Amino acid sequence: MDLVITPQEQKVLSVTGTDSKFPVQQIYCVGRNYADHAIEMGHDPNRETPFFFMKPAYAILDDEGEMQYPNESEDVHHEVELVIALKTGGNNIPVTEANDYIYGYAVGIDMTRRDLQAEAKDKSRPWECGKTFLHAAPCSAIAPVSNSGHIDEGMIQLSVNDEVRQQGNVDQMIWKVAEVISRLSILFHLQPGDLIYTGTPAGVGPIQRGDTIRAVIERVGELNISVAK
Ligand code: MN
Repeated sequence: MDLVITPQEQKVLSVTGTDSKFPVQQIYCVGRNYADHAIEMGHDPNRETPFFFMKPAYAILDDEGEMQYPNESEDVHHEVELVIALKTGGNNIPVTEANDYIYGYAVGIDMTRRDLQAEAKDKSRPWECGKTFLHAAPCSAIAPVSNSGHIDEGMIQLSVNDEVRQQGNVDQMIWKVAEVISRLSILFHLQPGDLIYTGTPAGVGPIQRGDTIRAVIERVGELNISVAK
């Protein structure tokens, strides 16, 4: 095919235990999926229908990567999250079948320009400027289900400069992994290669230029990044 411009290279993630790569398509994110985080942000922690936003694939930053601190913000926050990696796409996926669509899991950080997100909330505007920028979606290697099984519980933790900032358990998620996939598949056309960031526990806070950040989820793996000075 003769393309009139050169397309961007396919964004890929490593897969634990192999040299093969996982090609990233869309990145979906769940808002307010842990009660303690909903409370810290001033919201009702009761189980409401989950809501979603997206990031572009170019927002991915690999393990061991250096994050460029984004423009137009002085209050970028970390949100450590369990990431679902889909091997199969679809619409109207029943909750009882959703696990069959999962290739594996990863450790991700939903980096957020909190000041711009707050402004968007104030003015009832979309969240993109808060949630989307280069390196807004750091992500670890993917742990395949075939090795690690399905992840419905396990410690989730994030440290900045060796100080623990966020700690929780993925069993605290209000909407569980299968429910999130099912609901997303009703709203959107899911594709193989899609990633889903499933929400963050309490303890979100600012990062600074020069910080080193370590995020861990039991049985999934770890993600180490630094923030450029
Ligand atoms: Mn988040």
